[in-house]
Amino acid sequence: MRESLLLLTVAVLPLALEGQSPVPQIRTQAPGFYRFMVGDIEVTALNDGVISYKTAELLPTVSAEEIRSKLFEAGLTDPVDMSYNAYLVNTGDRLVLIDTGTGGKLEESPYFKGAGRLLANLKAAGYRPEQVEEIYITHLGPDHVGGLVQGSERVFPNATLRASSREVEIFVKRRSPEVEAKDWRLAFWRGLFDPYIKAGRFLPFEQDTVLVPGVRSLFTYGHTNGHTSYVVESKGQTLLILGDLVLVGAMQFEQPALETPYDVDRPAGAATRKRVMQIVSRDDWWIAGAHLSFPGIGRVRAATTGYRFLPVNYRLP
Ligand SMILES: [Zn+2]
Repeated sequence: MRESLLLLTVAVLPLALEGQSPVPQIRTQAPGFYRFMVGDIEVTALNDGVISYKTAELLPTVSAEEIRSKLFEAGLTDPVDMSYNAYLVNTGDRLVLIDTGTGGKLEESPYFKGAGRLLANLKAAGYRPEQVEEIYITHLGPDHVGGLVQGSERVFPNATLRASSREVEIFVKRRSPEVEAKDWRLAFWRGLFDPYIKAGRFLPFEQDTVLVPGVRSLFTYGHTNGHTSYVVESKGQTLLILGDLVLVGAMQFEQPALETPYDVDRPAGAATRKRVMQIVSRDDWWIAGAHLSFPGIGRVRAATTGYRFLPVNYRLP
């Protein structure tokens, strides 16, 4: 009986499909934006791209076996797709963009290839670049500042660009010709910031400053010298836009002490991560991570070991 059924299936199947053209697969994602409210403040997560990373490269002190088992627990396999996210904050009075994506720059590098989608996603989200009034930078990573200009033109012509003075001193300060020649990043950063500086639209700030009502900076040293997170507050709710405090979400919540060579000061990066996790879990703040899986927004809870990240429940605003 079983055999004859099988024969029947094999015989009938090709006949049923004959004459049908295959339906092409689409293989695109919905536009990369996600709307989220913090009290009365609207936050739009904007995706700039997704890049694959080998976890051992980000966390070289962890054994291959532990990486395999932790990724398995998280339902992931190596290399892991890492989102590149930025956040558009509409306080109701001011439109603020926090980080700008790669702008499609450094395409030849595997760390940036295929990114540069932020502007298209900002438009898909219903905004125009000329509406952006303030830009706040978490740090100078090319995936955070590359989108400031196209050629020598400001992409956000009406925006005032703001960043921690401690973060920008690396390229503002002129160095010896040998150092200047050796470090291509100095000219790269100047090329991104100069159009804003020349237009009188660059205003560095000192640490922990209220920038507009509802948004303030929080110095989170470790990933870079002036790494800055941003606190968005409205009606008793708080969102902390982390920047690059967590690179491997599957492991660094459970073990915030895990160091990464991507931090200029590794122990300080780990210490800051621990301190921030304490605050956001204790005070029930939302977090938004530049490299957590898009939209990168969620809450953090204390767990038996370290912390857990709880991604936001999908909702319609
Ligand atoms: Zn980054």
